[in-house]
Amino acid sequence: MPGLDRSTIWPYRDGEPGEFYYQRYAHPTGVEAERRLGELDGGHALLFSSGAGATTALVLSFLAPGETIALAEGAYYGTAVLFDELERWGLRYIEFDQTGPPPDEAQLVWLEAPSNPFLTMPDLKAAAAHPAPVVVDATAATPVHLRPLEHGADFVLHSATKYLAGHDDALLGAVVCKREEDAERLREFRGRSGIVAAPDPCFLLLRGLKTLEVRVRRQTESATELARRLADHPKVSTVRYAGISGLLSFDVAGADEARRLETSVRLITNATSLGGVDSVLESRARWEGDRVPPGLIRLSVGLEPLEELWSDLEQALENA
Ligand code: PLP
Repeated sequence: MPGLDRSTIWPYRDGEPGEFYYQRYAHPTGVEAERRLGELDGGHALLFSSGAGATTALVLSFLAPGETIALAEGAYYGTAVLFDELERWGLRYIEFDQTGPPPDEAQLVWLEAPSNPFLTMPDLKAAAAHPAPVVVDATAATPVHLRPLEHGADFVLHSATKYLAGHDDALLGAVVCKREEDAERLREFRGRSGIVAAPDPCFLLLRGLKTLEVRVRRQTESATELARRLADHPKVSTVRYAGISGLLSFDVAGADEARRLETSVRLITNATSLGGVDSVLESRARWEGDRVPPGLIRLSVGLEPLEELWSDLEQALENA
Protein backbone atom coordinates (compact mmCIF):
# COMPACT_ATOMS: atom_id res chain seq x y z
CA MET A 1 0.00 0.00 0.00
CA PRO A 2 1.60 3.30 -1.00
CA GLY A 3 1.88 5.78 1.83
CA LEU A 4 0.18 9.11 2.22
CA ASP A 5 2.61 11.95 1.51
CA ARG A 6 1.20 15.36 2.39
CA SER A 7 4.28 17.34 1.36
CA THR A 8 3.72 20.37 -0.83
CA ILE A 9 7.42 20.53 -1.80
CA TRP A 10 10.21 18.03 -2.48
CA PRO A 11 13.91 18.94 -2.57
CA TYR A 12 15.63 19.47 -5.92
CA ARG A 13 18.41 17.01 -6.70
CA ASP A 14 21.71 18.45 -7.80
CA GLY A 15 19.95 21.75 -8.37
CA GLU A 16 17.21 20.24 -10.58
CA PRO A 17 13.51 19.54 -9.86
CA GLY A 18 12.67 15.82 -9.91
CA GLU A 19 9.32 14.09 -10.71
CA PHE A 20 7.79 15.76 -7.64
CA TYR A 21 8.69 19.32 -6.68
CA TYR A 22 5.43 21.20 -5.97
CA GLN A 23 2.12 19.56 -5.03
CA ARG A 24 -0.03 21.57 -7.47
CA TYR A 25 1.76 19.91 -10.40
CA ALA A 26 1.92 16.34 -9.05
CA HIS A 27 2.23 14.35 -5.83
CA PRO A 28 3.06 10.67 -5.23
CA THR A 29 -0.30 9.65 -3.74
CA GLY A 30 -2.19 11.20 -6.66
CA VAL A 31 0.09 9.67 -9.28
CA GLU A 32 -0.37 6.21 -7.74
CA ALA A 33 -4.16 6.59 -7.61
CA GLU A 34 -4.12 7.74 -11.25
CA ARG A 35 -2.05 4.73 -12.24
CA ARG A 36 -4.62 2.37 -10.65
CA LEU A 37 -7.63 4.14 -12.13
CA GLY A 38 -5.95 4.30 -15.54
CA GLU A 39 -5.54 0.51 -15.45
CA LEU A 40 -9.18 0.03 -14.50
CA ASP A 41 -10.50 2.20 -17.34
CA GLY A 42 -7.79 1.35 -19.88
CA GLY A 43 -6.50 4.91 -20.38
CA HIS A 44 -4.55 7.81 -18.87
CA ALA A 45 -6.26 9.00 -15.66
CA LEU A 46 -6.05 12.43 -14.05
CA LEU A 47 -7.57 13.37 -10.71
CA PHE A 48 -9.27 16.67 -9.84
CA SER A 49 -10.73 18.28 -6.74
CA SER A 50 -14.28 17.02 -7.55
CA GLY A 51 -16.33 15.63 -10.42
CA ALA A 52 -17.51 19.16 -11.21
CA GLY A 53 -13.89 20.33 -11.17
CA ALA A 54 -12.99 17.57 -13.62
CA THR A 55 -15.86 18.66 -15.90
CA THR A 56 -14.71 22.29 -15.74
CA ALA A 57 -11.12 21.37 -16.56
CA LEU A 58 -12.12 19.14 -19.47
CA VAL A 59 -14.41 21.69 -21.09
CA LEU A 60 -12.05 24.66 -20.62
CA SER A 61 -9.05 22.69 -21.90
CA PHE A 62 -10.61 21.44 -25.12
CA LEU A 63 -13.30 23.93 -26.17
CA ALA A 64 -13.21 27.57 -27.26
CA PRO A 65 -15.83 30.35 -27.04
CA GLY A 66 -18.58 29.88 -29.61
CA GLU A 67 -18.36 26.08 -29.54
CA THR A 68 -21.24 23.79 -28.61
CA ILE A 69 -21.59 20.78 -26.30
CA ALA A 70 -24.27 18.18 -27.02
CA LEU A 71 -25.35 17.15 -23.51
CA ALA A 72 -27.40 14.04 -22.74
CA GLU A 73 -30.90 15.01 -21.65
CA GLY A 74 -31.67 13.98 -18.07
CA ALA A 75 -27.99 13.71 -17.14
CA TYR A 76 -26.64 14.91 -13.79
CA TYR A 77 -28.33 18.23 -13.06
CA GLY A 78 -25.10 19.81 -11.81
CA THR A 79 -23.44 19.33 -15.21
CA ALA A 80 -26.18 21.34 -16.97
CA VAL A 81 -26.02 24.00 -14.26
CA LEU A 82 -22.24 24.24 -14.70
CA PHE A 83 -22.64 24.57 -18.48
CA ASP A 84 -25.21 27.35 -17.84
CA GLU A 85 -22.51 29.09 -15.83
CA LEU A 86 -19.98 28.71 -18.64
CA GLU A 87 -22.38 30.24 -21.20
CA ARG A 88 -21.14 33.61 -19.95
CA TRP A 89 -17.75 32.59 -21.37
CA GLY A 90 -19.20 31.82 -24.79
CA LEU A 91 -19.77 28.06 -24.48
CA ARG A 92 -23.12 26.80 -25.68
CA TYR A 93 -24.87 23.52 -24.99
CA ILE A 94 -27.85 21.74 -26.39
CA GLU A 95 -29.56 18.78 -24.79
CA PHE A 96 -30.40 15.68 -26.82
CA ASP A 97 -31.77 12.19 -26.33
CA GLN A 98 -28.64 10.09 -25.76
CA THR A 99 -30.36 6.89 -26.83
CA GLY A 100 -30.00 8.21 -30.39
CA PRO A 101 -27.31 10.05 -32.42
CA PRO A 102 -25.94 13.41 -31.17
CA PRO A 103 -26.82 16.60 -33.10
CA ASP A 104 -24.45 17.48 -35.99
CA GLU A 105 -23.45 20.94 -34.78
CA ALA A 106 -21.67 19.80 -31.58
CA GLN A 107 -17.92 20.16 -31.02
CA LEU A 108 -18.10 17.90 -27.94
CA VAL A 109 -20.54 15.09 -27.11
CA TRP A 110 -21.34 14.56 -23.42
CA LEU A 111 -23.02 11.28 -22.44
CA GLU A 112 -23.87 9.72 -19.10
CA ALA A 113 -23.91 5.98 -18.43
CA PRO A 114 -26.42 5.45 -16.96
CA SER A 115 -27.90 8.94 -16.58
CA ASN A 116 -28.64 10.24 -13.10
CA PRO A 117 -31.53 10.06 -12.16
CA PHE A 118 -33.29 8.83 -15.33
CA LEU A 119 -31.05 5.79 -15.77
CA THR A 120 -31.01 5.84 -19.57
CA MET A 121 -28.03 4.32 -21.37
CA PRO A 122 -26.32 6.16 -24.24
CA ASP A 123 -26.03 4.82 -27.76
CA LEU A 124 -22.22 4.66 -27.69
CA LYS A 125 -22.00 3.46 -31.29
CA ALA A 126 -23.99 6.41 -32.63
CA ALA A 127 -21.90 8.83 -30.54
CA ALA A 128 -18.60 7.29 -31.69
CA ALA A 129 -19.70 7.84 -35.30
CA HIS A 130 -19.99 11.61 -34.62
CA PRO A 131 -16.87 13.59 -35.63
CA ALA A 132 -16.63 15.40 -32.25
CA PRO A 133 -14.78 13.93 -29.25
CA VAL A 134 -17.02 11.93 -26.92
CA VAL A 135 -17.05 12.16 -23.12
CA VAL A 136 -18.86 9.48 -21.12
CA ASP A 137 -19.64 10.33 -17.52
CA ALA A 138 -19.52 6.77 -16.19
CA THR A 139 -19.83 7.73 -12.51
CA ALA A 140 -22.75 5.35 -11.99
CA ALA A 141 -21.54 2.46 -14.17
CA THR A 142 -17.91 2.43 -12.90
CA PRO A 143 -15.25 0.46 -14.81
CA VAL A 144 -16.65 -2.69 -13.18
CA HIS A 145 -19.59 -2.53 -15.61
CA LEU A 146 -18.45 -0.28 -18.46
CA ARG A 147 -15.13 0.80 -19.99
CA PRO A 148 -16.26 3.52 -22.42
CA LEU A 149 -12.82 3.92 -24.06
CA GLU A 150 -13.31 0.43 -25.50
CA HIS A 151 -16.53 1.64 -27.14
CA GLY A 152 -15.08 4.60 -29.00
CA ALA A 153 -15.20 7.29 -26.28
CA ASP A 154 -12.28 9.73 -26.06
CA PHE A 155 -12.71 10.60 -22.37
CA VAL A 156 -14.32 9.00 -19.32
CA LEU A 157 -15.43 11.27 -16.52
CA HIS A 158 -16.02 10.12 -12.95
CA SER A 159 -17.25 11.77 -9.84
CA ALA A 160 -14.82 9.63 -7.85
CA THR A 161 -16.66 10.93 -4.78
CA LYS A 162 -19.22 8.22 -5.54
CA TYR A 163 -18.49 4.51 -6.18
CA LEU A 164 -14.75 4.78 -6.80
CA ALA A 165 -13.90 6.16 -3.36
CA GLY A 166 -17.11 4.61 -2.10
CA HIS A 167 -17.46 5.68 1.55
CA ASP A 168 -18.89 9.24 1.42
CA ASP A 169 -15.72 10.74 2.85
CA ALA A 170 -13.66 11.89 -0.15
CA LEU A 171 -14.54 14.55 -2.73
CA LEU A 172 -12.74 13.80 -6.00
CA GLY A 173 -13.16 13.80 -9.76
CA ALA A 174 -11.35 12.01 -12.56
CA VAL A 175 -10.92 12.19 -16.31
CA VAL A 176 -9.51 9.15 -18.07
CA CYS A 177 -8.15 9.99 -21.53
CA LYS A 178 -7.74 7.61 -24.41
CA ARG A 179 -4.73 9.53 -25.75
CA GLU A 180 -1.64 10.52 -23.78
CA GLU A 181 -1.44 13.87 -25.64
CA ASP A 182 -4.91 14.79 -24.34
CA ALA A 183 -3.84 13.79 -20.81
CA GLU A 184 -0.78 16.01 -21.20
CA ARG A 185 -2.93 19.00 -22.24
CA LEU A 186 -5.26 18.42 -19.26
CA ARG A 187 -2.34 17.96 -16.86
CA GLU A 188 -0.94 21.30 -17.97
CA PHE A 189 -4.31 23.03 -17.54
CA ARG A 190 -4.78 21.41 -14.13
CA GLY A 191 -1.40 22.55 -12.86
CA ARG A 192 -2.00 26.09 -14.09
CA SER A 193 -5.62 26.39 -12.91
CA GLY A 194 -5.09 24.57 -9.59
CA ILE A 195 -8.20 22.36 -9.91
CA VAL A 196 -6.22 19.66 -8.16
CA ALA A 197 -6.91 16.65 -5.93
CA ALA A 198 -5.29 16.80 -2.49
CA PRO A 199 -3.28 13.81 -1.17
CA ASP A 200 -5.78 12.77 1.56
CA PRO A 201 -8.74 12.07 -0.75
CA CYS A 202 -6.37 10.36 -3.21
CA PHE A 203 -5.27 8.05 -0.40
CA LEU A 204 -8.92 7.27 0.39
CA LEU A 205 -9.50 6.61 -3.31
CA LEU A 206 -6.63 4.11 -3.39
CA ARG A 207 -8.19 2.32 -0.44
CA GLY A 208 -11.66 2.42 -2.03
CA LEU A 209 -10.42 1.00 -5.32
CA LYS A 210 -9.26 -2.16 -3.53
CA THR A 211 -12.88 -3.09 -2.79
CA LEU A 212 -14.54 -1.46 -5.82
CA GLU A 213 -15.42 -4.64 -7.62
CA VAL A 214 -16.92 -6.49 -4.62
CA ARG A 215 -18.84 -3.41 -3.52
CA VAL A 216 -20.28 -2.65 -6.95
CA ARG A 217 -21.21 -6.25 -7.71
CA ARG A 218 -23.04 -6.60 -4.39
CA GLN A 219 -24.75 -3.19 -4.76
CA THR A 220 -25.84 -4.09 -8.27
CA GLU A 221 -27.24 -7.43 -7.11
CA SER A 222 -29.23 -5.79 -4.31
CA ALA A 223 -30.45 -2.96 -6.57
CA THR A 224 -31.63 -5.46 -9.20
CA GLU A 225 -33.78 -7.24 -6.62
CA LEU A 226 -35.07 -4.02 -5.03
CA ALA A 227 -35.99 -2.64 -8.48
CA ARG A 228 -37.98 -5.81 -9.13
CA ARG A 229 -39.83 -5.63 -5.81
CA LEU A 230 -40.49 -1.87 -6.09
CA ALA A 231 -42.03 -2.38 -9.54
CA ASP A 232 -44.65 -4.67 -7.92
CA HIS A 233 -45.45 -2.28 -5.07
CA PRO A 234 -48.89 -0.61 -5.31
CA LYS A 235 -47.55 2.80 -4.21
CA VAL A 236 -44.83 2.87 -6.87
CA SER A 237 -45.72 3.93 -10.41
CA THR A 238 -42.44 3.85 -12.32
CA VAL A 239 -39.09 2.19 -11.62
CA ARG A 240 -36.00 3.19 -13.60
CA TYR A 241 -33.01 0.89 -13.43
CA ALA A 242 -30.24 0.25 -15.96
CA GLY A 243 -29.12 -3.06 -14.41
CA ILE A 244 -25.48 -1.97 -14.12
CA SER A 245 -25.12 -0.14 -10.82
CA GLY A 246 -26.57 0.29 -7.38
CA LEU A 247 -28.47 3.35 -8.57
CA LEU A 248 -32.18 3.40 -9.32
CA SER A 249 -35.10 5.78 -9.20
CA PHE A 250 -38.81 5.30 -8.71
CA ASP A 251 -41.91 7.46 -8.51
CA VAL A 252 -44.47 7.76 -5.75
CA ALA A 253 -47.69 9.71 -6.36
CA GLY A 254 -46.40 13.26 -5.72
CA ALA A 255 -44.35 15.70 -3.66
CA ASP A 256 -46.21 15.05 -0.38
CA GLU A 257 -45.82 11.30 -0.69
CA ALA A 258 -42.13 11.75 -1.53
CA ARG A 259 -41.63 13.91 1.58
CA ARG A 260 -43.38 11.35 3.80
CA LEU A 261 -41.23 8.57 2.37
CA GLU A 262 -38.05 10.61 2.88
CA THR A 263 -38.87 11.28 6.52
CA SER A 264 -39.94 7.68 7.24
CA VAL A 265 -36.78 5.77 6.30
CA ARG A 266 -34.79 4.46 9.26
CA LEU A 267 -31.96 2.26 7.97
CA ILE A 268 -31.60 4.17 4.71
CA THR A 269 -30.33 7.73 5.18
CA ASN A 270 -32.27 10.63 3.68
CA ALA A 271 -29.34 12.40 2.05
CA THR A 272 -27.98 13.37 -1.33
CA SER A 273 -25.16 11.77 -3.33
CA LEU A 274 -24.73 8.12 -4.28
CA GLY A 275 -22.24 5.31 -4.54
CA GLY A 276 -21.35 4.89 -0.86
CA VAL A 277 -21.48 1.73 1.25
CA ASP A 278 -24.51 3.16 3.11
CA SER A 279 -27.83 3.40 1.29
CA VAL A 280 -29.23 6.89 0.72
CA LEU A 281 -32.36 8.20 -0.93
CA GLU A 282 -33.87 11.56 -1.70
CA SER A 283 -36.56 13.29 -3.72
CA ARG A 284 -34.77 14.93 -6.63
CA ALA A 285 -37.44 17.61 -7.27
CA ARG A 286 -35.92 19.50 -4.31
CA TRP A 287 -32.87 20.23 -6.51
CA GLU A 288 -34.08 19.81 -10.07
CA GLY A 289 -37.58 21.34 -9.91
CA ASP A 290 -39.78 20.39 -12.85
CA ARG A 291 -36.98 18.62 -14.74
CA VAL A 292 -38.12 15.53 -12.79
CA PRO A 293 -41.53 14.20 -11.70
CA PRO A 294 -42.51 15.59 -8.25
CA GLY A 295 -42.63 12.08 -6.77
CA LEU A 296 -39.27 10.90 -8.13
CA ILE A 297 -37.09 9.26 -5.49
CA ARG A 298 -33.45 8.42 -6.24
CA LEU A 299 -32.08 5.47 -4.30
CA SER A 300 -28.41 4.56 -4.04
CA VAL A 301 -28.20 1.03 -2.71
CA GLY A 302 -25.41 0.31 -0.24
CA LEU A 303 -24.09 -2.86 1.34
CA GLU A 304 -26.73 -3.46 4.02
CA PRO A 305 -28.49 -6.86 4.00
CA LEU A 306 -31.12 -6.94 1.24
CA GLU A 307 -34.04 -7.97 3.46
CA GLU A 308 -33.31 -5.14 5.91
CA LEU A 309 -33.30 -2.66 3.05
CA TRP A 310 -36.56 -4.02 1.70
CA SER A 311 -38.25 -3.90 5.15
CA ASP A 312 -37.20 -0.27 5.51
CA LEU A 313 -38.52 0.64 2.06
CA GLU A 314 -41.76 -1.23 2.70
CA GLN A 315 -42.46 0.53 6.00
CA ALA A 316 -41.53 3.92 4.49
CA LEU A 317 -43.82 3.31 1.50
CA GLU A 318 -46.56 2.34 3.93
CA ASN A 319 -46.27 5.87 5.43
CA ALA A 320 -46.01 7.60 2.05
N1 PLP B 1 -21.42 13.33 -12.52
C1 PLP B 1 -22.40 12.65 -11.93
C2 PLP B 1 -23.12 11.59 -12.69
C3 PLP B 1 -22.75 12.94 -10.61
O1 PLP B 1 -23.75 12.25 -10.01
C4 PLP B 1 -22.06 13.96 -9.91
C5 PLP B 1 -22.42 14.33 -8.52
O2 PLP B 1 -23.47 14.01 -8.03
C6 PLP B 1 -21.05 14.66 -10.58
C7 PLP B 1 -20.74 14.30 -11.88
C8 PLP B 1 -20.28 15.77 -9.90
O3 PLP B 1 -19.35 15.23 -9.03
P1 PLP B 1 -18.86 15.93 -7.66
O4 PLP B 1 -20.04 16.04 -6.75
O5 PLP B 1 -17.77 15.00 -7.20
O6 PLP B 1 -18.34 17.28 -8.04
